[in-house]
Amino acid sequence: LTQRIAGEGSSAWDIHFRAQQRRAAGEDVVILSVGDPDFDTPAAIVDTACNELRSGATHYADHRGEPELQQVLAKRHFAQTSVDTSPEQVVVVAGAQCGLYVAAQCLLNPGDEVIVPEPMYVTYEAFLQATGAKVVNVPLQPEQHFNLDPAAIAASITPRTRAILVNTPNNPTGAAVGGETWKKLAEICIEHDLWLMLDEVYADLMFEGEHFHPGQLPGMAERTVTISSLSKSHAMTGWRLGWVIGPQEFAEHAGNLTLCMLYGSPAFVQSAAVTALSADLPELEAMRQAYRRRRDLMVERVQSMPGIRCHTPAGGMFMMLDVRELGVSSEAFAERLLDEFGVSVLVGEAFGPSASGHVRASFCVSESDLDKACERIAACAEAILAER
Ligand code: PMP
Ligand code: GLN
Repeated sequence: LTQRIAGEGSSAWDIHFRAQQRRAAGEDVVILSVGDPDFDTPAAIVDTACNELRSGATHYADHRGEPELQQVLAKRHFAQTSVDTSPEQVVVVAGAQCGLYVAAQCLLNPGDEVIVPEPMYVTYEAFLQATGAKVVNVPLQPEQHFNLDPAAIAASITPRTRAILVNTPNNPTGAAVGGETWKKLAEICIEHDLWLMLDEVYADLMFEGEHFHPGQLPGMAERTVTISSLSKSHAMTGWRLGWVIGPQEFAEHAGNLTLCMLYGSPAFVQSAAVTALSADLPELEAMRQAYRRRRDLMVERVQSMPGIRCHTPAGGMFMMLDVRELGVSSEAFAERLLDEFGVSVLVGEAFGPSASGHVRASFCVSESDLDKACERIAACAEAILAER
């Protein structure tokens, strides 16, 4: 077997799988360990897919993406960046995860270095390593709310650096990169002639301010590859519909890769995606509002818990709980929380060493379940403190 395919990261989910098993066995477990929207996909999207299937959209689709979907995505990209974007710059893939893989394979050679701020999403190390490139992590500080520090990124650049990978809003931290920070990052990318890989799967879930797309900064469109999907914004994780958008040359390269690895995303799913991105769907705003309420509820509750601290996430569907004051490891906390109190969270270290002493909680459950989870988290903290 090849060494490039590390497969690491999957153990991060063990606690989540155990929580799912316990719930399936009838236990009262609140699952805050996964970012999978609890909402149904809006009905109009499902209707389009069903109608398309019934009318025979069961054949191979264009391997780079159906032209109508490419067009809708190019328009959306233009709205975000004010940079002319042709449909040929868009390649449709099987979810953002596939998009990240495609982008990495197209941009990185063995021996290249790619800078990734850490904590980072659990799959990052594995899909980057699969290219033969070296991952250079830049630790972010919990005291600075895990906000990106351009100076630390600049300090990590070597002659081998080829790309920077940024996820904003961030999984797991909830931090979002604002315009001023992007300006500094853009200077770094331009000065060192780097690619920017931008993972913006949570872009539509901003709670503080607007999502800032760095492609709008001078000199950035030609070096930015945007990776996103409908998974989170449209409650469509199971549909596996995502895309990569970049300069023409990149898109041609990515198109060649999809030809040999995917041979196109299902036509009926692509038609449904056109509906998702162009129809007026009131469900989308309703979902956004629900996530915001849940975030507010969580932050308010966690702030009054003994021995646990948190920052207010600017976007996304996750927050970090800092459990360092409890005097136990994040793993010990997460295990006890699941075993004795019936709430599952992920251990911070799964996202990198900078998240040690933290656990990640998602808010993909109802407010009443979140409320219940918060009571249990507080009870767990109290039990730990009482034993000290
Ligand atoms: N990037 C990040 C930061 C994520 O959290 C996820 C969620 N799984 C993905 C990429 C992959 O998303 P998708 O479901 O579109 O593959
Ligand atoms: N991105 C989501 C998370 O971080 C779900 C990923 C998954 O289930 N593999 O929880």
